[in-house]
Amino acid sequence: MTTAAIIVAAGRGLRAGGGIPKQWRPLAGRRVADWTIDRFRHQVDHIVLVLSQDDQTAWDEFLGSDLLLAKGGSDRAGSVRNGLDALDGLGIEHVLIHDVARPCVSSQTIADVLTALTTHEAAAPGLTVTDALWTGDEAVVTGTQDRTGLFAAQTPQGFRYDAIVAAHAAHSGGAADDVEVARAAGMNVVIVPGDADNIKITRPEDFARAERVLGTDMDVRLGNGYDVHRFGDGDHVILCGVKIPHHRGLQGHSDADVGMHAVTDAIYGALAQGDIGQHFPPSDPQWKGAASEIFLRHAVELSVQMGYSISNVDCTLVCEYPKIGPHASTMREEMARIMGLRVDQISVKATTSERLGFTGRSEGIASLATACLVKS
Ligand code: MG
Repeated sequence: MTTAAIIVAAGRGLRAGGGIPKQWRPLAGRRVADWTIDRFRHQVDHIVLVLSQDDQTAWDEFLGSDLLLAKGGSDRAGSVRNGLDALDGLGIEHVLIHDVARPCVSSQTIADVLTALTTHEAAAPGLTVTDALWTGDEAVVTGTQDRTGLFAAQTPQGFRYDAIVAAHAAHSGGAADDVEVARAAGMNVVIVPGDADNIKITRPEDFARAERVLGTDMDVRLGNGYDVHRFGDGDHVILCGVKIPHHRGLQGHSDADVGMHAVTDAIYGALAQGDIGQHFPPSDPQWKGAASEIFLRHAVELSVQMGYSISNVDCTLVCEYPKIGPHASTMREEMARIMGLRVDQISVKATTSERLGFTGRSEGIASLATACLVKS
């Protein structure tokens, strides 16, 4: 299932104060847009950022990043259409459309919408209205409104890609949101539970509220991993996913990738979810000779399921030979690919042990790793 998110960031959003569009204003140490983009990074395959043509600084910054860019339209619907166009030909099945001004959206809400899309053509989070509703005139209550069946609409709003493209093509005139466009085309939109913390930054005071949500949400976890494999017969070793010719091989039940095992255990450690041996018992013959990529992918998937994103990993290989330096950047690229991270989030380095101990006598290779996970 190929998924994408369109983050609509082309508005000028000056009502929130500060003299610059609200998406570029600081919030809890970063910009509003940075928080919002990161919320989707590990939950969809592609992210489109829709930017105003006037936001030259933002264009310069994001061109060449891992994001797709699209130009803002004359109104919100036009911006969304341009975002949808940017995904043309990528085989997208499900697309989420999200307001950049909702940086507090939880991974749970995103996952709920994506899950609903496996059985429905459209889904969006809504909050049941719990406050009594009044009608009023010049600050005087003129009546009460029945709140039964009323929902406050949130984003991300999710759709079958082909269906929402067709709905937008057929729609003319304004719309409050993409659900309105979808419904006008006859699509059924299911409501998934909204989240009271998924606020839309609109007024100046909303920044303080968003900071409180993001601050109380701050949950940083560290894990460490350590692994050793012994040298035996062979003509290559596999370290951090890279095959390196060597006059000896590493012994082990799987492919004996000591570096990847340490990284995998560091992630399990941060999650307090045991170690590789617990998830992939060496006594189980199906893991004999297995590519360690399977273990690493499992640890990354587990972290996503538990609501954490991996901020960075650092891996140290301890050996006299083979020389790691010439392969370190390929190792970083390979692990970034497997983990769905950027290369600058992965470090691979090496040290000898000055010919001391078992690594110094080249009896085997040891590896240590640290992983930092952040609640997303
Ligand atoms: Mg191992």
